[in-house]
Amino acid sequence: MAMVINMKDERLRKANSYVNKVYEEVTKRNANEVEFLQAVKEIFHSLTPVFARNPQYIENGILERIVEPERVISFRVPWVDDYGKVKVNRGFRVQFNGSIGPYKGGIRFHPSVNASIIKFLGFEQIFKNALTGQAIGGGKGGSDFDPKGKSDAEIMRFCQSFMTELSKYIGSDVDVPAGDIGVGAREIGYMFGQYRRLRGNFDSGVFTGKGVGYGGSLGRTEATGYGCVYFVNEMLQDRGLSFEGSTVVISGSGNVSIYAIEKAQEFGAKVVACSDSGGYIYDEKGICLDTLKHLKEVERNRICEYVKEHPHAQYREGSEGIWSIPCDIALPCATQNEIDEESAKLLVKNNVKAVGEGANMPSTLDAIDVFLENNVLFAPGKAANAGGVAVSALEMAQNSSRISWDFEQVDEQLKQIMMNIYRNSVQAAEEYGEPGNLVVGSNIAGFIKVADAMMIQGII
Ligand code: GLU
Repeated sequence: MAMVINMKDERLRKANSYVNKVYEEVTKRNANEVEFLQAVKEIFHSLTPVFARNPQYIENGILERIVEPERVISFRVPWVDDYGKVKVNRGFRVQFNGSIGPYKGGIRFHPSVNASIIKFLGFEQIFKNALTGQAIGGGKGGSDFDPKGKSDAEIMRFCQSFMTELSKYIGSDVDVPAGDIGVGAREIGYMFGQYRRLRGNFDSGVFTGKGVGYGGSLGRTEATGYGCVYFVNEMLQDRGLSFEGSTVVISGSGNVSIYAIEKAQEFGAKVVACSDSGGYIYDEKGICLDTLKHLKEVERNRICEYVKEHPHAQYREGSEGIWSIPCDIALPCATQNEIDEESAKLLVKNNVKAVGEGANMPSTLDAIDVFLENNVLFAPGKAANAGGVAVSALEMAQNSSRISWDFEQVDEQLKQIMMNIYRNSVQAAEEYGEPGNLVVGSNIAGFIKVADAMMIQGII
Protein backbone atom coordinates (compact mmCIF):
# COMPACT_ATOMS: atom_id res chain seq x y z
CA MET A 1 0.00 0.00 0.00
CA ALA A 2 2.82 2.35 0.98
CA MET A 3 4.39 1.66 -2.42
CA VAL A 4 1.18 2.69 -4.20
CA ILE A 5 0.93 5.93 -2.25
CA ASN A 6 4.58 6.70 -2.97
CA MET A 7 4.09 6.01 -6.68
CA LYS A 8 1.13 8.35 -6.65
CA ASP A 9 3.05 11.04 -4.79
CA GLU A 10 5.95 10.71 -7.19
CA ARG A 11 3.67 11.11 -10.19
CA LEU A 12 2.03 14.16 -8.62
CA ARG A 13 5.41 15.69 -7.87
CA LYS A 14 6.55 15.13 -11.47
CA ALA A 15 3.31 16.54 -12.85
CA ASN A 16 3.56 19.56 -10.61
CA SER A 17 7.12 20.32 -11.60
CA TYR A 18 6.21 19.90 -15.30
CA VAL A 19 3.32 22.37 -15.00
CA ASN A 20 5.51 24.85 -13.10
CA LYS A 21 8.33 24.58 -15.61
CA VAL A 22 6.06 25.21 -18.60
CA TYR A 23 4.36 28.10 -16.80
CA GLU A 24 7.74 29.69 -16.15
CA GLU A 25 8.58 29.43 -19.87
CA VAL A 26 5.23 30.93 -20.83
CA THR A 27 5.81 33.83 -18.43
CA LYS A 28 9.24 34.53 -19.91
CA ARG A 29 8.06 34.30 -23.48
CA ASN A 30 4.94 36.46 -23.00
CA ALA A 31 6.19 38.75 -20.26
CA ASN A 32 3.93 41.70 -21.02
CA GLU A 33 0.77 39.79 -21.74
CA VAL A 34 -0.97 40.09 -18.38
CA GLU A 35 -4.42 38.87 -19.39
CA PHE A 36 -3.04 35.95 -21.38
CA LEU A 37 -0.89 34.87 -18.44
CA GLN A 38 -3.90 35.13 -16.14
CA ALA A 39 -5.94 32.78 -18.36
CA VAL A 40 -3.02 30.35 -18.63
CA LYS A 41 -2.45 30.35 -14.87
CA GLU A 42 -6.10 29.56 -14.17
CA ILE A 43 -6.06 26.52 -16.45
CA PHE A 44 -2.63 25.31 -15.33
CA HIS A 45 -3.75 25.38 -11.69
CA SER A 46 -6.31 22.70 -12.48
CA LEU A 47 -4.15 20.36 -14.51
CA THR A 48 -1.58 18.78 -12.17
CA PRO A 49 -3.77 15.74 -11.35
CA VAL A 50 -4.42 15.24 -15.07
CA PHE A 51 -0.68 14.98 -15.83
CA ALA A 52 -0.14 12.76 -12.82
CA ARG A 53 -2.68 10.31 -14.19
CA ASN A 54 -1.71 10.72 -17.88
CA PRO A 55 2.10 10.97 -18.11
CA GLN A 56 1.79 10.42 -21.87
CA TYR A 57 0.64 14.06 -22.13
CA ILE A 58 3.96 15.15 -20.60
CA GLU A 59 5.95 13.00 -23.05
CA ASN A 60 3.97 14.52 -25.90
CA GLY A 61 4.69 18.09 -24.84
CA ILE A 62 0.99 18.87 -24.80
CA LEU A 63 1.29 21.88 -22.48
CA GLU A 64 4.22 23.47 -24.31
CA ARG A 65 2.29 23.13 -27.55
CA ILE A 66 -1.16 24.16 -26.34
CA VAL A 67 0.02 27.54 -24.99
CA GLU A 68 1.58 28.50 -28.31
CA PRO A 69 -0.99 29.64 -30.90
CA GLU A 70 -0.86 27.74 -34.18
CA ARG A 71 -0.90 31.12 -35.91
CA VAL A 72 -1.13 34.82 -34.95
CA ILE A 73 -2.07 37.35 -37.61
CA SER A 74 -1.64 41.06 -36.99
CA PHE A 75 -2.48 43.63 -39.62
CA ARG A 76 -3.02 47.30 -40.42
CA VAL A 77 -6.61 48.51 -40.83
CA PRO A 78 -6.66 51.90 -42.59
CA TRP A 79 -9.96 53.73 -43.10
CA VAL A 80 -11.25 57.24 -43.76
CA ASP A 81 -13.58 58.99 -41.29
CA ASP A 82 -16.56 61.19 -42.19
CA TYR A 83 -14.32 64.28 -42.30
CA GLY A 84 -11.92 62.77 -44.82
CA LYS A 85 -9.24 62.07 -42.22
CA VAL A 86 -7.14 58.91 -42.51
CA LYS A 87 -7.30 56.63 -39.48
CA VAL A 88 -5.28 53.51 -38.73
CA ASN A 89 -6.23 50.71 -36.35
CA ARG A 90 -4.64 47.40 -35.61
CA GLY A 91 -6.38 44.13 -36.50
CA PHE A 92 -5.74 40.66 -35.04
CA ARG A 93 -6.73 37.07 -35.55
CA VAL A 94 -5.32 34.35 -33.35
CA GLN A 95 -5.81 30.81 -34.67
CA PHE A 96 -5.00 29.10 -31.42
CA ASN A 97 -5.85 25.43 -31.76
CA GLY A 98 -7.49 23.61 -34.65
CA SER A 99 -7.16 20.04 -33.46
CA ILE A 100 -10.88 19.34 -33.01
CA GLY A 101 -12.33 21.53 -35.77
CA PRO A 102 -11.98 24.77 -37.74
CA TYR A 103 -10.86 27.71 -35.59
CA LYS A 104 -13.96 29.32 -34.11
CA GLY A 105 -14.41 32.46 -32.05
CA GLY A 106 -15.66 36.00 -32.12
CA ILE A 107 -14.25 39.34 -33.17
CA ARG A 108 -14.03 42.14 -30.62
CA PHE A 109 -13.89 45.85 -31.45
CA HIS A 110 -12.82 47.79 -28.37
CA PRO A 111 -10.03 50.30 -27.65
CA SER A 112 -8.51 47.93 -25.07
CA VAL A 113 -7.84 45.21 -27.66
CA ASN A 114 -4.20 44.14 -28.00
CA ALA A 115 -2.28 40.90 -28.52
CA SER A 116 -2.65 39.88 -24.86
CA ILE A 117 -6.43 40.33 -24.81
CA ILE A 118 -6.93 38.45 -28.07
CA LYS A 119 -4.64 35.65 -26.92
CA PHE A 120 -6.41 35.23 -23.57
CA LEU A 121 -9.75 35.12 -25.37
CA GLY A 122 -8.44 32.67 -27.96
CA PHE A 123 -6.92 30.46 -25.28
CA GLU A 124 -10.18 30.33 -23.29
CA GLN A 125 -12.06 29.63 -26.49
CA ILE A 126 -10.12 26.36 -27.09
CA PHE A 127 -11.51 24.79 -23.92
CA LYS A 128 -14.93 26.43 -24.09
CA ASN A 129 -15.47 25.12 -27.60
CA ALA A 130 -14.27 21.65 -26.61
CA LEU A 131 -16.74 21.64 -23.71
CA THR A 132 -19.69 22.18 -26.07
CA GLY A 133 -19.00 18.72 -27.55
CA GLN A 134 -19.03 20.19 -31.06
CA ALA A 135 -16.29 20.06 -33.70
CA ILE A 136 -14.87 23.56 -33.28
CA GLY A 137 -11.30 24.66 -32.59
CA GLY A 138 -10.29 27.82 -30.72
CA GLY A 139 -9.67 31.23 -32.28
CA LYS A 140 -10.38 34.90 -31.65
CA GLY A 141 -9.91 38.23 -33.38
CA GLY A 142 -10.49 41.90 -33.07
CA SER A 143 -9.28 45.43 -33.32
CA ASP A 144 -8.55 48.40 -31.07
CA PHE A 145 -11.16 50.32 -33.11
CA ASP A 146 -13.67 52.08 -30.85
CA PRO A 147 -17.18 51.89 -32.35
CA LYS A 148 -18.50 54.37 -29.77
CA GLY A 149 -19.64 57.62 -31.40
CA LYS A 150 -18.91 56.44 -34.96
CA SER A 151 -21.46 56.94 -37.73
CA ASP A 152 -22.98 54.01 -39.58
CA ALA A 153 -20.91 54.87 -42.66
CA GLU A 154 -17.69 54.90 -40.62
CA ILE A 155 -18.53 51.53 -39.11
CA MET A 156 -19.15 50.14 -42.60
CA ARG A 157 -15.87 51.47 -44.02
CA PHE A 158 -13.94 50.15 -41.05
CA CYS A 159 -15.54 46.69 -41.29
CA GLN A 160 -14.82 46.55 -45.02
CA SER A 161 -11.17 47.44 -44.53
CA PHE A 162 -10.84 44.94 -41.65
CA MET A 163 -12.37 42.16 -43.74
CA THR A 164 -10.28 42.96 -46.83
CA GLU A 165 -7.26 41.70 -44.91
CA LEU A 166 -8.95 39.07 -42.70
CA SER A 167 -10.62 37.40 -45.72
CA LYS A 168 -7.26 35.87 -46.68
CA TYR A 169 -7.19 33.74 -43.56
CA ILE A 170 -10.77 32.53 -42.98
CA GLY A 171 -13.22 30.10 -44.59
CA SER A 172 -16.05 27.81 -43.53
CA ASP A 173 -13.63 24.87 -43.01
CA VAL A 174 -10.69 27.03 -41.94
CA ASP A 175 -11.67 29.69 -39.44
CA VAL A 176 -15.18 30.95 -38.69
CA PRO A 177 -15.47 34.30 -36.88
CA ALA A 178 -18.55 35.69 -35.12
CA GLY A 179 -19.37 38.66 -32.87
CA ASP A 180 -18.10 39.69 -29.44
CA ILE A 181 -17.95 43.07 -27.64
CA GLY A 182 -18.55 45.86 -30.18
CA VAL A 183 -19.45 43.44 -32.98
CA GLY A 184 -23.13 42.66 -33.47
CA ALA A 185 -25.55 42.06 -36.33
CA ARG A 186 -24.67 45.32 -38.09
CA GLU A 187 -20.90 44.74 -38.11
CA ILE A 188 -21.26 41.07 -39.06
CA GLY A 189 -23.48 42.11 -41.98
CA TYR A 190 -20.85 44.55 -43.29
CA MET A 191 -18.01 42.05 -42.84
CA PHE A 192 -19.92 39.18 -44.45
CA GLY A 193 -20.90 41.46 -47.34
CA GLN A 194 -17.29 42.43 -47.98
CA TYR A 195 -16.16 38.79 -47.80
CA ARG A 196 -18.81 37.78 -50.34
CA ARG A 197 -17.78 40.61 -52.63
CA LEU A 198 -14.08 39.72 -52.45
CA ARG A 199 -14.66 36.01 -53.00
CA GLY A 200 -17.52 36.22 -55.45
CA ASN A 201 -19.35 33.33 -53.79
CA PHE A 202 -21.95 32.92 -51.08
CA ASP A 203 -20.08 30.94 -48.44
CA SER A 204 -22.64 31.32 -45.65
CA GLY A 205 -20.71 29.16 -43.17
CA VAL A 206 -17.74 31.54 -43.07
CA PHE A 207 -19.36 33.70 -40.38
CA THR A 208 -21.85 33.03 -37.60
CA GLY A 209 -24.18 35.44 -35.87
CA LYS A 210 -25.51 36.43 -39.30
CA GLY A 211 -28.95 37.96 -39.76
CA VAL A 212 -31.68 35.32 -39.99
CA GLY A 213 -32.57 36.52 -43.50
CA TYR A 214 -29.20 35.50 -44.98
CA GLY A 215 -28.16 32.31 -43.21
CA GLY A 216 -28.23 33.21 -39.52
CA SER A 217 -29.75 30.91 -36.93
CA LEU A 218 -32.83 31.66 -34.88
CA GLY A 219 -31.82 31.77 -31.23
CA ARG A 220 -28.21 32.85 -31.84
CA THR A 221 -28.84 36.37 -30.49
CA GLU A 222 -30.27 35.01 -27.26
CA ALA A 223 -27.88 32.06 -26.93
CA THR A 224 -25.09 33.34 -24.64
CA GLY A 225 -27.42 35.00 -22.13
CA TYR A 226 -30.01 32.20 -22.14
CA GLY A 227 -27.25 29.57 -22.00
CA CYS A 228 -25.66 31.21 -18.97
CA VAL A 229 -28.98 31.20 -17.10
CA TYR A 230 -29.66 27.56 -18.11
CA PHE A 231 -26.25 26.60 -16.75
CA VAL A 232 -26.66 28.50 -13.47
CA ASN A 233 -30.18 27.09 -13.10
CA GLU A 234 -28.77 23.57 -13.34
CA MET A 235 -26.15 24.41 -10.72
CA LEU A 236 -28.78 25.94 -8.39
CA GLN A 237 -31.19 23.02 -8.76
CA ASP A 238 -28.43 20.59 -7.79
CA ARG A 239 -28.39 22.35 -4.39
CA GLY A 240 -32.14 22.71 -4.06
CA LEU A 241 -32.06 26.41 -5.03
CA SER A 242 -33.67 28.28 -7.95
CA PHE A 243 -34.03 31.62 -9.72
CA GLU A 244 -37.66 31.83 -8.59
CA GLY A 245 -38.07 34.71 -6.13
CA SER A 246 -34.35 35.52 -6.04
CA THR A 247 -32.72 38.92 -6.42
CA VAL A 248 -30.25 39.06 -9.28
CA VAL A 249 -27.61 41.55 -10.39
CA ILE A 250 -26.45 41.30 -14.01
CA SER A 251 -23.64 43.58 -15.17
CA GLY A 252 -23.39 44.89 -18.72
CA SER A 253 -26.21 45.85 -21.06
CA GLY A 254 -25.08 44.29 -24.30
CA ASN A 255 -26.29 41.18 -26.02
CA VAL A 256 -25.24 38.72 -23.29
CA SER A 257 -26.65 40.79 -20.46
CA ILE A 258 -30.00 41.60 -22.12
CA TYR A 259 -30.84 37.96 -22.80
CA ALA A 260 -29.57 36.79 -19.42
CA ILE A 261 -31.99 39.32 -17.88
CA GLU A 262 -34.81 38.06 -20.11
CA LYS A 263 -34.33 34.39 -19.15
CA ALA A 264 -33.73 35.12 -15.45
CA GLN A 265 -36.99 37.11 -15.37
CA GLU A 266 -38.77 34.29 -17.16
CA PHE A 267 -37.51 31.95 -14.43
CA GLY A 268 -39.11 34.20 -11.81
CA ALA A 269 -36.11 36.24 -10.66
CA LYS A 270 -36.10 39.96 -9.94
CA VAL A 271 -33.17 41.53 -11.78
CA VAL A 272 -32.46 44.80 -9.99
CA ALA A 273 -29.36 46.14 -11.72
CA CYS A 274 -27.37 46.29 -14.96
CA SER A 275 -24.57 48.53 -16.22
CA ASP A 276 -22.49 49.98 -19.03
CA SER A 277 -18.93 51.32 -19.03
CA GLY A 278 -20.14 54.65 -17.52
CA GLY A 279 -22.18 53.43 -14.56
CA TYR A 280 -25.07 51.29 -13.39
CA ILE A 281 -28.81 51.35 -12.93
CA TYR A 282 -30.45 50.21 -9.73
CA ASP A 283 -34.16 49.57 -10.10
CA GLU A 284 -35.58 47.98 -6.97
CA LYS A 285 -38.83 47.17 -8.80
CA GLY A 286 -36.88 45.13 -11.33
CA ILE A 287 -35.28 46.26 -14.60
CA CYS A 288 -37.81 47.04 -17.36
CA LEU A 289 -36.47 44.99 -20.26
CA ASP A 290 -38.53 46.79 -22.93
CA THR A 291 -36.91 50.09 -22.01
CA LEU A 292 -33.44 48.54 -21.86
CA LYS A 293 -33.82 46.80 -25.23
CA HIS A 294 -35.08 49.96 -26.88
CA LEU A 295 -32.24 52.02 -25.41
CA LYS A 296 -29.49 49.60 -26.38
CA GLU A 297 -30.73 47.76 -29.46
CA VAL A 298 -32.65 50.55 -31.23
CA GLU A 299 -31.25 53.88 -30.02
CA ARG A 300 -27.69 52.61 -29.25
CA ASN A 301 -27.82 54.96 -26.28
CA ARG A 302 -26.20 55.10 -22.83
CA ILE A 303 -27.82 53.36 -19.88
CA CYS A 304 -28.17 56.58 -17.84
CA GLU A 305 -31.13 57.43 -20.12
CA TYR A 306 -33.11 54.62 -18.41
CA VAL A 307 -34.06 56.85 -15.46
CA LYS A 308 -35.88 59.30 -17.76
CA GLU A 309 -38.58 56.65 -18.28
CA HIS A 310 -38.27 55.17 -14.81
CA PRO A 311 -37.64 58.08 -12.42
CA HIS A 312 -37.87 55.83 -9.33
CA ALA A 313 -34.71 54.01 -10.49
CA GLN A 314 -31.23 55.30 -9.73
CA TYR A 315 -28.27 55.81 -12.00
CA ARG A 316 -24.87 55.81 -10.33
CA GLU A 317 -21.56 56.53 -12.02
CA GLY A 318 -18.77 53.93 -11.99
CA SER A 319 -19.74 50.49 -13.24
CA GLU A 320 -17.84 48.51 -10.56
CA GLY A 321 -20.21 49.88 -7.89
CA ILE A 322 -22.83 47.43 -9.16
CA TRP A 323 -21.29 44.67 -6.97
CA SER A 324 -22.21 46.56 -3.81
CA ILE A 325 -25.90 45.84 -4.42
CA PRO A 326 -27.08 42.92 -2.26
CA CYS A 327 -28.21 39.95 -4.35
CA ASP A 328 -28.68 36.18 -4.25
CA ILE A 329 -27.21 35.60 -7.70
CA ALA A 330 -24.63 37.68 -9.59
CA LEU A 331 -24.08 37.27 -13.31
CA PRO A 332 -21.09 39.29 -14.55
CA CYS A 333 -21.85 39.73 -18.27
CA ALA A 334 -19.77 42.81 -19.15
CA THR A 335 -16.04 42.23 -19.59
CA GLN A 336 -12.79 40.74 -18.25
CA ASN A 337 -11.68 41.41 -14.67
CA GLU A 338 -14.82 43.36 -13.75
CA ILE A 339 -14.96 41.60 -10.35
CA ASP A 340 -11.81 42.01 -8.28
CA GLU A 341 -11.08 40.63 -4.82
CA GLU A 342 -12.72 43.57 -3.09
CA SER A 343 -15.95 43.30 -5.10
CA ALA A 344 -16.00 39.54 -4.51
CA LYS A 345 -15.71 40.11 -0.75
CA LEU A 346 -18.54 42.61 -0.92
CA LEU A 347 -20.76 40.11 -2.73
CA VAL A 348 -19.92 37.44 -0.13
CA LYS A 349 -20.61 39.87 2.72
CA ASN A 350 -24.01 40.54 1.18
CA ASN A 351 -24.70 36.79 1.10
CA VAL A 352 -24.48 36.03 -2.60
CA LYS A 353 -25.27 32.33 -3.18
CA ALA A 354 -24.19 31.89 -6.77
CA VAL A 355 -22.05 33.63 -9.37
CA GLY A 356 -22.28 32.76 -13.08
CA GLU A 357 -19.88 34.26 -15.59
CA GLY A 358 -21.63 35.38 -18.79
CA ALA A 359 -18.56 37.35 -19.89
CA ASN A 360 -15.09 36.00 -20.62
CA MET A 361 -12.87 35.94 -17.48
CA PRO A 362 -14.90 38.59 -15.59
CA SER A 363 -13.50 37.51 -12.21
CA THR A 364 -9.84 37.96 -11.28
CA LEU A 365 -7.99 34.93 -9.87
CA ASP A 366 -8.22 36.44 -6.38
CA ALA A 367 -11.95 36.99 -6.77
CA ILE A 368 -12.44 33.34 -7.78
CA ASP A 369 -10.54 32.26 -4.66
CA VAL A 370 -12.84 34.39 -2.50
CA PHE A 371 -15.93 32.72 -4.02
CA LEU A 372 -14.56 29.19 -3.69
CA GLU A 373 -13.28 29.70 -0.13
CA ASN A 374 -16.69 30.98 0.92
CA ASN A 375 -18.63 28.15 -0.73
CA VAL A 376 -20.35 30.41 -3.23
CA LEU A 377 -21.59 28.32 -6.18
CA PHE A 378 -19.34 29.46 -9.00
CA ALA A 379 -19.94 28.87 -12.72
CA PRO A 380 -16.79 29.79 -14.70
CA GLY A 381 -17.14 31.61 -18.01
CA LYS A 382 -15.70 28.97 -20.27
CA ALA A 383 -18.53 26.67 -19.20
CA ALA A 384 -21.34 29.10 -18.40
CA ASN A 385 -21.00 31.36 -21.45
CA ALA A 386 -20.43 28.57 -23.99
CA GLY A 387 -24.04 28.86 -25.23
CA GLY A 388 -23.15 31.55 -27.76
CA VAL A 389 -20.49 29.59 -29.55
CA ALA A 390 -22.55 26.41 -29.22
CA VAL A 391 -25.41 27.95 -31.19
CA SER A 392 -22.82 29.32 -33.63
CA ALA A 393 -21.84 25.71 -34.30
CA LEU A 394 -25.53 24.91 -34.78
CA GLU A 395 -25.65 27.79 -37.28
CA MET A 396 -22.71 26.20 -39.13
CA ALA A 397 -24.57 22.87 -39.20
CA GLN A 398 -27.67 24.54 -40.66
CA ASN A 399 -25.57 26.35 -43.26
CA SER A 400 -23.85 23.12 -44.36
CA SER A 401 -27.14 21.29 -44.77
CA ARG A 402 -28.92 24.33 -46.29
CA ILE A 403 -31.87 24.05 -43.94
CA SER A 404 -32.97 26.14 -40.97
CA TRP A 405 -34.39 25.01 -37.69
CA ASP A 406 -37.13 26.82 -35.81
CA PHE A 407 -36.45 28.68 -32.56
CA GLU A 408 -37.68 25.87 -30.30
CA GLN A 409 -35.41 23.30 -31.96
CA VAL A 410 -32.36 25.51 -31.44
CA ASP A 411 -33.32 26.46 -27.89
CA GLU A 412 -33.88 22.82 -26.92
CA GLN A 413 -30.42 21.87 -28.24
CA LEU A 414 -28.89 24.81 -26.40
CA LYS A 415 -30.48 23.62 -23.14
CA GLN A 416 -29.16 20.10 -23.70
CA ILE A 417 -25.65 21.36 -24.47
CA MET A 418 -25.55 23.55 -21.33
CA MET A 419 -26.79 20.62 -19.24
CA ASN A 420 -24.11 18.35 -20.71
CA ILE A 421 -21.38 20.90 -20.03
CA TYR A 422 -22.57 21.14 -16.45
CA ARG A 423 -22.71 17.36 -15.95
CA ASN A 424 -19.32 16.76 -17.61
CA SER A 425 -17.68 19.49 -15.50
CA VAL A 426 -19.18 18.11 -12.28
CA GLN A 427 -18.04 14.62 -13.22
CA ALA A 428 -14.48 15.68 -14.10
CA ALA A 429 -14.18 17.61 -10.84
CA GLU A 430 -15.27 14.55 -8.91
CA GLU A 431 -13.03 12.18 -10.83
CA TYR A 432 -9.98 14.34 -10.20
CA GLY A 433 -10.59 14.85 -6.51
CA GLU A 434 -12.15 18.32 -6.34
CA PRO A 435 -15.88 17.63 -6.03
CA GLY A 436 -18.09 20.65 -6.67
CA ASN A 437 -15.27 22.77 -8.09
CA LEU A 438 -16.52 23.73 -11.56
CA VAL A 439 -13.39 25.74 -12.35
CA VAL A 440 -11.27 22.61 -12.07
CA GLY A 441 -13.97 20.41 -13.62
CA SER A 442 -14.54 22.50 -16.74
CA ASN A 443 -10.81 23.09 -17.27
CA ILE A 444 -10.08 19.38 -17.07
CA ALA A 445 -13.04 18.25 -19.21
CA GLY A 446 -12.19 20.76 -21.96
CA PHE A 447 -8.47 20.09 -21.78
CA ILE A 448 -8.65 16.30 -22.05
CA LYS A 449 -10.72 16.43 -25.22
CA VAL A 450 -8.21 18.70 -26.95
CA ALA A 451 -5.14 16.94 -25.54
CA ASP A 452 -6.35 13.55 -26.81
CA ALA A 453 -6.92 14.96 -30.32
CA MET A 454 -3.46 16.55 -30.25
CA MET A 455 -1.85 13.27 -29.20
CA ILE A 456 -3.47 11.31 -32.01
CA GLN A 457 -2.47 13.88 -34.64
CA GLY A 458 1.25 13.72 -33.86
CA ILE A 459 3.71 16.47 -33.01
CA ILE A 460 2.43 19.41 -35.05
N1 GLU B 1 -17.67 35.75 -28.77
C1 GLU B 1 -18.42 34.65 -28.28
C2 GLU B 1 -17.62 33.89 -27.25
O1 GLU B 1 -16.86 34.49 -26.51
C3 GLU B 1 -19.01 33.80 -29.39
C4 GLU B 1 -18.05 33.19 -30.33
C5 GLU B 1 -18.70 32.51 -31.54
O2 GLU B 1 -19.91 32.46 -31.63
O3 GLU B 1 -17.92 32.04 -32.37
O4 GLU B 1 -17.70 32.70 -27.11
